[in-house]
Amino acid sequence: MIHEILPVGPLQCNCSIVGDETTREGMVIDPGDNISTVLAIAEKHRLRIKQIVITHAHIDHIGGAMKLREATGAPILLNQNDYALLKMLDVQATWIGVATPGNVEIDRSVTSGDTVSAGAHTAQVLHTPGHTEGSICLYFESEKKLIAGDTLFAGSIGRTDLPGGSMQKIMRSLHDTVLALPDETVVVPGHGELTTIGDERESNPFLVR
Ligand SMILES: [Zn+2]
Repeated sequence: MIHEILPVGPLQCNCSIVGDETTREGMVIDPGDNISTVLAIAEKHRLRIKQIVITHAHIDHIGGAMKLREATGAPILLNQNDYALLKMLDVQATWIGVATPGNVEIDRSVTSGDTVSAGAHTAQVLHTPGHTEGSICLYFESEKKLIAGDTLFAGSIGRTDLPGGSMQKIMRSLHDTVLALPDETVVVPGHGELTTIGDERESNPFLVR
């Protein structure tokens, strides 16, 4: 599986470009910004982007989605529980001092039980509310890889003090869904360094019992 991680925008959101090396089909996860670089990476691997997946509707993860859709024709997928946050993108833009991306149109809602894919590489969608109501993680079982959005970080967890956040829900999502994954699973958080489920289970101060 082709997988490049590009930190984008002022908050350095980890944008993932995933692709199938045989079919050259690709998927972009969390295109918050720097769309010309995202497109250049896709081009370097000769990927046709087929899906744009958003882990949650915070502006640093979704800000470049419309620009990427215009360039590729790929649909934008987001869990419907974050549609309320979409209406607040102008407010979110003022929080971090960036230009508003305008209206973002969602083509399809995705939730637990759904899959997203880049050619033969398929990820299960896991609905993991808490950081936001509609937060999702993407689990590539064969690759033992989790794209975690802002639900889990190396040594930390997502903040729950923004609209739609809930400490109770994020803890339930982490213990019931995320920590149910095998220890060797590599975690690609929404920001910062990669980690593994095992390392976080053992040493994350928010998760050790
Ligand atoms: Zn976020």
